[in-house]
Amino acid sequence: MGKVLVIGAGGVSSVAVHKMAMNPEIFTGITIASRTIGKCDAIAASVKARCGVDVATHAIDAEDVPALTALIRAVGPKLVVNLALPYQDLTIMDACLAAGVDYLDTANYEPKDVARFEYKWQWAYHDRFREKGLMALLGSGFDPGVTSVFAMWLKKHKLKTIRRLDILDCNGGDHGQPFATNFNPEINIREVTAPARHWEKIGGEGGAFVESPAMANKVSFDFAGVGPKTMYMMYHEELESLARFIPELERARFWMTFGDAYIQHLTVLQNVGMTRIDPVLFNGVEIVPLQFLKAVLPEPSTLGATTRGKTNIGDIATGEALDGSGEKTFYIRNICDHEGAYAETGNQAVSYTTGVPAMIGAAMMLTGAWKGDGVFNMEQFDPDPFMAMLNTQGLPWTVEELPAPVDF
Ligand code: NDP
Repeated sequence: MGKVLVIGAGGVSSVAVHKMAMNPEIFTGITIASRTIGKCDAIAASVKARCGVDVATHAIDAEDVPALTALIRAVGPKLVVNLALPYQDLTIMDACLAAGVDYLDTANYEPKDVARFEYKWQWAYHDRFREKGLMALLGSGFDPGVTSVFAMWLKKHKLKTIRRLDILDCNGGDHGQPFATNFNPEINIREVTAPARHWEKIGGEGGAFVESPAMANKVSFDFAGVGPKTMYMMYHEELESLARFIPELERARFWMTFGDAYIQHLTVLQNVGMTRIDPVLFNGVEIVPLQFLKAVLPEPSTLGATTRGKTNIGDIATGEALDGSGEKTFYIRNICDHEGAYAETGNQAVSYTTGVPAMIGAAMMLTGAWKGDGVFNMEQFDPDPFMAMLNTQGLPWTVEELPAPVDF
């Protein structure tokens, strides 16, 4: 149904490209382009060995808009799938506009010099995409991504309104390293050290984000397939789009689990200044401490072989039942096994749970199941075809009714 150009060659890209190759009737041609061509070639070799599909590779700096525009024109894809870093979102969107090609990503744009997670920069592209008859789909990973589709599925099939929503992200995997992050360390640590924010309507009026210090609010939760874990409230970008597209939401929060060793290491790194994102002068050269830290930490893509355990990510939503039976609470989630993900694609479950929805979002666009002119979030489309593909493409989900709303 169409050719894709995938930008970036990390763990998420590797999973997405393997899964695209497993769906050749949808993805009729695949090219990967990234800063380091050796990483593109390694993914292409693995895809050839596992799936027998040829993937073309190119070197590109995705922040060089003229070079990227020329590459898009030369490759001639129907869709550009951005699996590089959030810093490149706007330049890749610019190149898609210049070349007249659709766009998809898994994380909202972040400026390099300040850790802000907002859709406003990308929403500002809506008219330019609409006028050119092009589509951009934002945040097609797991969270953001599947967590929003889960909420919209509940709104379509179970709940007339969603009054309260909690997103619970648990990684119960153990990679055997004293300290390592499961996706890009720089992006991960910027996210975790930012102040927490949740959406709340005080007194039923309006609605606003309420800020609290990073990692200050924690609670223990017993995750199916994993067991009890401490989860911390933090800000996550889908809260912004959920608050926009589910206007009746009275409260929306995001929780992520972290082990004690992770918190201890992070606290020390923060206290000594290693998580700073402003440049410091070292031997006459400006370096950003967090970027240096990334350089000495294990590459997330190398953790797959040793990671054991499961992830469990889902939504708990409370609202008025569609069938008129009063207030109900539902828990919808996926459990993914690290070793199973590694056996299938050579990557651990955090990359897998992001790369599979990136492939499914791309499939929605290439097949026309999701279409529109402009910039869109996941909440704006019919959840059913996406949810059906989750079940067939390696991320099956379950939904259960809980006896009561969450008590935390
Ligand atoms: P990695 O760091 O493993 O990979 C990023 C890739 O982008 C690398 O290959 C890197 O190249 C490449 N890249 C960086 N800068 C440029 C540039 N200027 N031009 C071209 N290529 C560039 O990250 P992950 O695979 O872990 O994550 C990929 C994306 O997925 C990130 O945006 C992340 O935020 C997002 N994500 C989303 C999740 C979700 O659920 N929605 C969850 C997890 C991640 P090089 O190898 O040379 O450094």
